[in-house]
Amino acid sequence: MKPVLDMPNPSRLEDWRCLAPGAFAARPFSSAQCQDLLAQIVAGKAFSSVPREQPNSMHNYGMVVNNPELSAQLACLPDTWLATVIPTLFPHLPGGRFGDQHAFMVFYGEDAERELALHVDASHITLNICLENDAQGGEINFTGARCARHVNEPPDRITVSHRFEPGDVLLHVGNQRHHVSPLRGGRRRNLLVWYRLETEVFDHSNSWVQSICATCSA
Ligand SMILES: [Zn+2]
Repeated sequence: MKPVLDMPNPSRLEDWRCLAPGAFAARPFSSAQCQDLLAQIVAGKAFSSVPREQPNSMHNYGMVVNNPELSAQLACLPDTWLATVIPTLFPHLPGGRFGDQHAFMVFYGEDAERELALHVDASHITLNICLENDAQGGEINFTGARCARHVNEPPDRITVSHRFEPGDVLLHVGNQRHHVSPLRGGRRRNLLVWYRLETEVFDHSNSWVQSICATCSA
């Protein structure tokens, strides 16, 4: 099977723009690459689980990545494509290996997810790749990074809304709270990867997570 992700060069810092504290965006993929990956997904080559398997506790529609080649490619991105970017954009992160990753697709549309409630991810870093989006609505909204103790505190004074274009990649800390606006039509399909440091708990109780919590540092 040919590689499903073609990332020959390391990502450059200047390609990333800051959306919110601990949340960054770039557009490294062409729409053709997105279409190619989606086509492989549809053909069942990149994902061997059936559609609509519940990929995690937050999503009812989507597919878990369990194709070994794609899983291996996604797992090594922090050491290859993102090797410079992650330590520079997230200087509070302790060193160490991302020993665990959870990759899944989410589908938004008339017969899939319509919105997603406010939550934090069970990750230290989340990679969110938009493969398709012709939806009205369905924006992702960031309401601020908080530690486990302050996860229900009021949102940042400025919450940040991002409308995905195909090829967009977001990279954000798992404790940057976010929700998805209701869809009014169309559909959006995204590939997500939750990366976890192998020596750290991922419930956002770590002291280095508190260092970027807006309430802790107020
Ligand atoms: Zn806090």
